[in-house]
Amino acid sequence: MIAPDRARAERYPFVPGPVPFRVVATEGRHILTHDGRRILDAGGGAVVANIGYGRREVAEVAARAMEQITYVVPTWPTDARVDLLHRVVDDWMPPSITRGGFTSGGSESVDTALRLARQHHLSAGRTARWRVIGRRPSYHGVTLATLAVGGHDVRRAGFEPLLLDVPHVPWDDAEALDVVIREVGADTVAAFIAEPVVGSSGAALVADAAYWCRVGEICREHGVLFIADEVMTGFGRTGRRMGVEHLGVDPDIVVGGKGLAGGYAPIGGVYATDEVMAPIAANRDSLMFFTYGAQDMACAVADTVLRIIDEEHLVERAATQGAALRSRLEFALADHPHVLEVRGLGLMMGVELVADAASGERFPAAAGIGRRVVTEALHRDVWIYPAGSGEVVQDAVMFGPAFTVTDEELDTMVEVLVESIDAAVAGAPSRR
Ligand code: PLP
Repeated sequence: MIAPDRARAERYPFVPGPVPFRVVATEGRHILTHDGRRILDAGGGAVVANIGYGRREVAEVAARAMEQITYVVPTWPTDARVDLLHRVVDDWMPPSITRGGFTSGGSESVDTALRLARQHHLSAGRTARWRVIGRRPSYHGVTLATLAVGGHDVRRAGFEPLLLDVPHVPWDDAEALDVVIREVGADTVAAFIAEPVVGSSGAALVADAAYWCRVGEICREHGVLFIADEVMTGFGRTGRRMGVEHLGVDPDIVVGGKGLAGGYAPIGGVYATDEVMAPIAANRDSLMFFTYGAQDMACAVADTVLRIIDEEHLVERAATQGAALRSRLEFALADHPHVLEVRGLGLMMGVELVADAASGERFPAAAGIGRRVVTEALHRDVWIYPAGSGEVVQDAVMFGPAFTVTDEELDTMVEVLVESIDAAVAGAPSRR
C-alpha cells in the first residue's frame, strides 16, 4: 500500500486540526492505520459495531442489493424493506409496537419521532400538544430539533437561540416530570423522550425500576407519549434485545439506529404502536420522508446483520461479555482514587472520573481529564469512547465493543484504561 500523503489527510477534518493517523482498514474488532498500528476498538466505533467489522457475508449482500435496486422512493415497498420491517417489528420490538419506518441514521429517526408524536396529537384533534420533555443529561442527536430535546450542555452551548425551548428534567427524578407537565399544562405536552440507559452524555447512567414505573404512570395519566430513544441501547447492546426490556414500561414510540446495521450501512428507524398511528391513518395524514430513508441496500444489510446476531446468539454474548467486562472494571478500579462509579448494562459500560472519589469533587473542567484519558488510551492502541456532557457528568469514558469481544481483549481494554487514567491525571507524556 502506498503511504498516504500527510498533507492530503490533514485536509480531511472540516474544522482544520491535527489528524492522528489515517485508517486503512477495519477488521474484526480492530482499526488498522496507515503506519501499521492495530487499534483495539473498545468503543465499537461510536458504540455501533455490534457484530464486529469486515464480515464478507454482509459485504456480499450489500453488493447484490445495490446491483438489483439502486434507488426507490422510500414509500414504496421492496423485498429488502418488507423483510427488514417484519424482522425488526416481530422479533426485536416490544409486542405493542406494530408499525415502523426507516431513515438513514439516529438523529433523523429521533427527529421523525418528534414529528410523529406531534402529528399523532394533531390528527387526533389535540392541536395544543406540541411540547416534548427531555432529560438532563441526554443525547438525542445533532439536528436542531434533536439538540433541543437533548440535555447535552456542551453540544447545546451557543446554539440556544436556534433551539426550541422545551423543558428538561433530571434523568432520575420521575416526580420532576410530573411537576413540569403540570406547570406547562398537560394539554400542551406531546411526549417525553428518554434513553433506557443514558448513553455517552451520561456514561451509561441506569435509572432504577421504581423510576421507570412512575414515568409510565405519569405519561399515561397525562396522555403524554413515551418515546424510547434506543439509538445506542437497541439491538442487543444492553444484553437484551431492546433496552426497554429492562424498564417494565411500554413505549409508544421507539427509535433505533447504530446497531440496526452494526455500522455496515447508514440506517435508523422509528417504530410505533397501532394507537399512535391510528388517528394519523384515519385522517389520511402523512409523514414526509428523507430522500435516503429505507435505502434498499441499507435495509438488506441491516436484515443480514440482525440475522447474524440471532444465528450466533450475540445478544446472549453481549450479556455474558458485559458481565465479564463489569467484573474486570470493578476489580481493577475498586478503591481507585479517581473513579466515582462503574456502571451500565450489558456491553454499554461507563466509568465516571473525579478528582477525589471519596468526596466526589471534580477535576477542573478545563483540565479535560475525560478527553485526556481517551487520548492516552489511543496512544496505547485502544479506542475508548469519550463520554460526559457538562454539568451533570463531566469527566467520563465508555466501553461499547462488539458483542464478539474476547476475554483477552477485555483484559487489554481494562489494563489500558487504568494506565490511561493514571497517565492523564499525572499529565504524563504518552508512550508514543
Ligand atoms: N440518540 C442517541 C441515544 C444516540 O446515542 C445518538 C448518537 O450517538 C443519536 C441519537 C444520534 O444518532 P446519529 O449520530 O446516528 O445521528
